[in-house]
Amino acid sequence: MEKRSVPLHDLDNAHSHEHVHNHGGKLTIILFFVGFAAFLAGFILEGSSSFYSSMAFILSVVTAGYHIILEGVGDTIRNSHSAKKFQPNVHFLMALAAAGAIVIGKYEEAAMLIVIFAAAHFLEDYVDGKSKREITHLLNLNPTEARIVYPDGSTQIVPVDVVKTGDTLQVLNGAQVPTDGVILSGNTAIDESSINGESIPKEKTFGDEVYGGTINGSGTFTMKVTKDSSETVFSKILQLVRQSQESLTKTATLIQRLEPKYVTIVLALFPFVLLAGPYIFGWSWEVSLYRSMVYLISVSPCALAASAVSTTLATISNLSKKGVLVKGGAYLSKLQGLKAISFDKTGTLTNGKPVVTDFVFEQGLDQNELIDILVAMEKQSNHPLATAIITSFPETRALQLDVANQVGRGLSTNYVGNSYRIGKPVSFEKVSFIYKEKEKQFSAEGKTVVFFGKNETVIGLIALMDVLIQDAKAAISYFKEAGLHTTMITGDAKLTGETVGKQIGVDEVIANVMPEDKAKIVKEQQEEYGSTAMLGDGINDAPALVTADVGIAMGEGTGVEIDVADLVLMKNDLSKLAYAHQLSKKMDKITWQNIAFSIVVVLTLVTLNLLGKMDITIGVILHEGSTILVILNALRMLKTPKKYL
Ligand code: ADP
Ligand code: MG
Repeated sequence: MEKRSVPLHDLDNAHSHEHVHNHGGKLTIILFFVGFAAFLAGFILEGSSSFYSSMAFILSVVTAGYHIILEGVGDTIRNSHSAKKFQPNVHFLMALAAAGAIVIGKYEEAAMLIVIFAAAHFLEDYVDGKSKREITHLLNLNPTEARIVYPDGSTQIVPVDVVKTGDTLQVLNGAQVPTDGVILSGNTAIDESSINGESIPKEKTFGDEVYGGTINGSGTFTMKVTKDSSETVFSKILQLVRQSQESLTKTATLIQRLEPKYVTIVLALFPFVLLAGPYIFGWSWEVSLYRSMVYLISVSPCALAASAVSTTLATISNLSKKGVLVKGGAYLSKLQGLKAISFDKTGTLTNGKPVVTDFVFEQGLDQNELIDILVAMEKQSNHPLATAIITSFPETRALQLDVANQVGRGLSTNYVGNSYRIGKPVSFEKVSFIYKEKEKQFSAEGKTVVFFGKNETVIGLIALMDVLIQDAKAAISYFKEAGLHTTMITGDAKLTGETVGKQIGVDEVIANVMPEDKAKIVKEQQEEYGSTAMLGDGINDAPALVTADVGIAMGEGTGVEIDVADLVLMKNDLSKLAYAHQLSKKMDKITWQNIAFSIVVVLTLVTLNLLGKMDITIGVILHEGSTILVILNALRMLKTPKKYL
């Protein structure tokens, strides 16, 4: 199947930073090697002819330095023009230093400066490009075509964007599922690793949901399209990945904003450095000019510029391989600085697939009729509780009822002159002793209890149990150890919430919460503890996800809240969240290590230069060497720490 590839430079456009530009153009690389060869030639010729040797070095500066001059001078002019103020960059400093070296006849050192600087930048680009390619590898998996089945049974291959909801598609073995839908016929196993990172294929048959962007195994099946190709889970994931390219961390963007200012100061100081030589330190003009060139090289913030950008890209890349998608590096800085984290209960800490464990219906009433009413009501809800109730109670007669759905409360209807309601126990006032006792008993076991009422009097009770999600307990204890305040927010009853909260070990349980109040609670947490994250799985969590400093969505099988989330766990596995938090801490550490190191190197070089212990060659080597060290340090973010959790 043909795959659509998204040109990488589209993503590069997201950064306007000079260091992230693609230096890897063919011409640039050829010119670099020409320059490198010229540099070697100059070196060899040095003994025999100083004229030819100088010419070779100048040729080397012009060819290897082609993109440095272009970016240094070109971007400075362009950026200054659009910002309406002087916006010089590091390349400008380097181009200036090389020009200065040539002016004072130091051809060899000028060539050396350019060749090493260019080589270091190729390396930086390669590393950042590699991280980016890993992040965007998903984009290549975007489905492009579908095999549509017409009512007369004929099939035709069409572009995926013409497929409409309700269409029937055929998916052959080994092909990509074009969009989201449900299986109409056929059995197969589907590799869903592209949307949830799960490598073991899932068995699917009639009625099961399939997702666009996943890969069909050995069976052929037909499916009914349930979502437009732009609305699929996969396309939401892709949007997120694209956005992650746009925002780097706060530190990284701060450094980027500071670069022109910093370079401007360096340039403003340049005349003083030049004049200080002869007038204060008693150097000759030639020495002073030379040391001014070394000054330009020493202070240029190459390593500093690489400090945060490379580290952030490597971190995002590492996380995306683990099934954690980040909307932008900025959220990683926020993640490491969290003071509190709140979790929705159903579907987030529990797996959202409750089962009915106990039930009681009033004796003396027609049990079959009660069940028929109950099932007819729940059929009109897509709540996890509804699904559990429908599967547990077989109906004798399918009733057509007009049902009102009160989100987060329950359902109500009328049937032959009586009103019926199913929902939260607290919403009922006329409850006999026996139901109250049973409710207490089941809730204390961590079960969700719902009451069934006729004309507002409780006549039935259903208890449902949900299992805790994989690694929920370990993740909670990880966050507690990391010093975060952990809260479970649930619409369920107080006692049930507290029992589950105790099992899982959260610091605080806020129960009986209406969906519209979740965001308010997050706000209160922010006021009390500071930066707060919210983890949720459903559309009713969306406002809270938006309010939180970091909104985290459980990606499996959902989709709506991915739009508003800052972070998505593609698989509902909380250990991945703890991992992301740990990695964000490490990212912060490495970024600051890099920044401190870069500053120390700059200060050392400047001091040595003032003491006359520096020349262009050593300056360039130390300077670029430090940039490479910073990048190598950033690369540590690609590695998975041996133990997390
Ligand atoms: P959560 O916050 O745990 O995801 P919700 O806010 O969705 O829970 O629901 C809160 C409560 O409302 C449930 O515990 C249940 O008592 C009641 N409820 C909601 N929808 C239904 C339904 N379809 N059938 C029965 N009870 C429901
Ligand atoms: Mg929920």
